[in-house]
Amino acid sequence: MSPEEFRKHAHQLVDWMAGYMKNIEKYPVKSQVQPGEIFSKIPDNPPLNPEPFDSLMADLEEIILPGITHWQSPNFFAYFPANSSPPSILAEMIISTLGAQCMIWETSPAAAELEEKMMIWLRDLIGLPSYFEGVIQDTASTATLAAILTAREKATGFRINDEGIEGDRPLRVYCTGQTHSSVEKAVKISGIGRKNMVKIPVRSDFSMDPEKLREVVIEDVKKGFLPCCVVATICTTGTTAVDPLKAIGEICAKNGIWLHVDAAMGGTALILPEFQWMLEGREFIDSFVFNPHKWMFTNFDCSAFYVRDPETLIKTFEILPEYLKTRTRGKVNDYRDWGIPLGRRFRALKLWSVIRIYGIEGLREKIRNHIRMAKSLAEMISSEPDFEILAPLVINVVCFRYKPKGIPEDQLNGINEALNHRLNDSGKIYLTHTSINGIYTLRMVTGQTNVTMEHVGTAWELIKKAARNF
Ligand SMILES: *Cc1c(COP(=O)(O)O)cnc(C)c1O
Repeated sequence: MSPEEFRKHAHQLVDWMAGYMKNIEKYPVKSQVQPGEIFSKIPDNPPLNPEPFDSLMADLEEIILPGITHWQSPNFFAYFPANSSPPSILAEMIISTLGAQCMIWETSPAAAELEEKMMIWLRDLIGLPSYFEGVIQDTASTATLAAILTAREKATGFRINDEGIEGDRPLRVYCTGQTHSSVEKAVKISGIGRKNMVKIPVRSDFSMDPEKLREVVIEDVKKGFLPCCVVATICTTGTTAVDPLKAIGEICAKNGIWLHVDAAMGGTALILPEFQWMLEGREFIDSFVFNPHKWMFTNFDCSAFYVRDPETLIKTFEILPEYLKTRTRGKVNDYRDWGIPLGRRFRALKLWSVIRIYGIEGLREKIRNHIRMAKSLAEMISSEPDFEILAPLVINVVCFRYKPKGIPEDQLNGINEALNHRLNDSGKIYLTHTSINGIYTLRMVTGQTNVTMEHVGTAWELIKKAARNF
């Protein structure tokens, strides 16, 4: 494809992109295809001869779009959002055109230095202390793995990196039953072992009970374990509970335990002064992760990972083969030493675009609006006697269920599960569930880039109608 042919197709493609954005509500939110349906429509063999781009676009409409779940639909209320936005998409176009592989400073100084500056902008915006230094990772899962590996090395004097895990006192990692599964994954991968991940009981609002943490740590030390890391969450995935950082941090500081904070979703709310309370105890944090690729209008993937002491992180991951030796080493940030992959995309550019084009006030306004919508939704749900709210509202996630009079408790889970499927199969809205103390809980997130109160109101009408028509 010559640059001139590219220009022609790209112009057509931009028209397609704008059309998709405009018409997104016409698609079923959740893809309605059956397993294997898309696979069987794709030829068994690749083409021998070149095909025109137009035939690719035709197949995109025909074969691919029916198998897409439309995360950018304002009727998407499931999981947590994975928001895109026009400023982020435009930046992605630049990133892929440059196609730079930004593993070290020399392979694109602008990428390294823009990343360094964006991490400072974001750090100050969310209220982390100024001694934190940040790096962009692909996902929160990777950042949390990097944090746990670093905590492991710190706790063992960097011995496991050299000698392997044998012969050490078993390390312990503490979290709660509400903690994201990425922590369990990290505990498995890091060699610490799942049996050494201790779930601390939660309080009535589903946040970690620090008194229970204190008791367990004291007991573990007596038994000969080596407490290594606490993972606290700001806005858990199920119910958006906020673990009390200050009380947890005091226990960590006293016992030399690494405090990692997972704020994958909730980190975005920290750009609002009225949510700074969630960071109380910030002085105890060793590492912190939040995902602009969830709620901050930046295309997946872009996860901001902060550490109090980059030296410890770098010492954990650094490797220096001959072909990567440079003249600038030590003077600049070579981010390949700040995590697991060597190769890195130029992700800072989309943060730069999003923050500049929305402006801080623009971002705050959108986030505040999402939070306001959740509050209105929770009020509408509370006012109906046959519905029940199941967890405190913290940011923009409402947990509830249908609970009509006279139905025995042991049938309610089945009814709510069927209701969830019925709503999602309609293609009109998409929501997902969680389990709270064994209760099947519908979970509605008002966080999609373009969601309005009108969408929320229509969704609520649909839910009521579908529930009452059983
Ligand atoms: C979504 C989420 C994660 C995982 O995020 P990825 O970037 O997809 O790895 C981790 N923790 C919490 C609290 C989350 O909500």
